[in-house]
Amino acid sequence: MDWFRYQGDALFCEEVPLAELGAIHGTPLYVYSARTIRERFAAIEAAYASVPHLICYAMKANDNLSIVRMLAELGAGVDIVSGGELFRARRAGVPADRIIFAGVGKTRAEIAQAVDEGVLLFNVESADELEVIAEVAAERRQTARISVRVNPDVDPRTHPYISTGLRKNKFGIPSDQVLTVYRRARAAPFVEPVGIQMHIGSQLVQVQPIVDAVERLADLVQRLRREGFDIRYLDIGGGLGIRYRDENPEGPAVLAERILPTVRDLGVTLLCEPGRFLVGSAGALLTRVLYRKENGAKTFIIVDAAMNDLIRPALYDAYHEIWPVRRTDEPSEVVDVVGPVCESGDFFAHDRPLPRTQAGDLLAVLCAGAYGFSMASTYNARPRPAEVLVTDSTYRLIRRRETYEDLVRTEEGL
Ligand SMILES: *Cc1c(COP(=O)(O)O)cnc(C)c1O
Repeated sequence: MDWFRYQGDALFCEEVPLAELGAIHGTPLYVYSARTIRERFAAIEAAYASVPHLICYAMKANDNLSIVRMLAELGAGVDIVSGGELFRARRAGVPADRIIFAGVGKTRAEIAQAVDEGVLLFNVESADELEVIAEVAAERRQTARISVRVNPDVDPRTHPYISTGLRKNKFGIPSDQVLTVYRRARAAPFVEPVGIQMHIGSQLVQVQPIVDAVERLADLVQRLRREGFDIRYLDIGGGLGIRYRDENPEGPAVLAERILPTVRDLGVTLLCEPGRFLVGSAGALLTRVLYRKENGAKTFIIVDAAMNDLIRPALYDAYHEIWPVRRTDEPSEVVDVVGPVCESGDFFAHDRPLPRTQAGDLLAVLCAGAYGFSMASTYNARPRPAEVLVTDSTYRLIRRRETYEDLVRTEEGL
C-alpha cells in the first residue's frame, strides 16, 4: 500500500522499520508517510495542470497541524467545516485566501470568524444560512464571497452514511431552488456570489456520478450567467476513493479527462476538496497484540488499539488490511481482531485469515490516514494515540500521546 512495504521480513514506512517506531513511541501509534501524501497531491496537480485550479484539502480527514502545513507548503488550500478547523488551518499557516468554508450548520460566531479572516469562499447550504452570512458581512462591512452548494440529486453509489448528493440527504440546495438563492445573494450588499459547488459523497470508486453532477452544475452556470451572475469558481467537492481492499478506483486523471473540456468551456477556476484520496493510504495504525483467546467457535486476537482510535470498522463496517510488522512463515488462521473497549462493535476485522500471531507481536492496520485520528475519541478513558510523520529514513513525532492528566484537563467543579 503505497509506501508501507516489506523489506525482507520487516514492514517499513518508507525507509523506517515500523518495529522501531513501535519500540520508541509505543502503541497504539499512527504512522504517516510524507512521500505518499506528496505523490497523491502531485497526481491531482498533474491531472488539473491545464486549467486554473486550487486543491482545497478537506482537513476533516486528518487535521494534524504538520500534515496540514505540509500540504499548504505544496500549494494546497483547505476545505473547512468548523471554526475549530479555521483556527487549526490558520495555525498551520494556510493563507485565508486559500480557505473555503463548508457545512450545513455554520454558527453566526463561526461565520463572523471566517468573515474577519477573509476566507476565499463560503459554500452556502441553505437560504437561511445565506441570511446570516449577509447580516454578519454587513455588520462588519466586509464582503463575503459565496458559492451555493447544489444538491445535484445523483447517486454516488457508495455507503449510505457517506452519500451526500441525493435529495434525501441534508446537504446542499436542490437545483430548482438555486436561482432564488443567487438572486437573494446579489441583493445583499456585502455578499458576492462568485461560485458554485457540489460534493456528492465519499469513497467514490467510479467517477461517472461526479461527471454527471458536473454537467448539471455546468448547465446551472450557463443559466446564472444569462442572468448576469459572474460565476468564476466551479467546485467539484471531494470523494475520490482509495483502495482499501480490492477496489480499483478511477483516479483524478480519469476524472480530469472527463470534466476538463466542460471546465475549459466555462472558463472557470476549478476547485476540488479531496480528503481521503490525499491522506488515506498514507497512514497506518500500529498496534500490539495483547492476548489470544479461543472460545471454541472463534479465535480472537486482542490488540491494544480500539474503536476509539479508529472507528471506521465500527461506524461503516469498513475493511482495513492488517499486516504483521514482522513477516513469518506461520500458517494462516481465521481470526477476529478486536480491541479492549467494552463494545461488540470494537473490532478491526472479522473472520480474517492472518498468519498466526501471539502476544507482543506488532500489527499494522493499513489505510488509516483518513478519518482515523480525526475521528478518535477518549471513550473508555483511553488517551488518544501519538502520531509520527515519516520522511524517507527520518521521522518525527507530530503529536505526543495523551496522558491521563490530559483526560481530565478541562473538567471543573470537583
Ligand atoms: C468530507 C468532505 C470532503 C472530503 O471528502 P473525501 O471523501 O474525504 O474526499 C470534501 N468536501 C466536503 C464538503 C466534505 O464534507
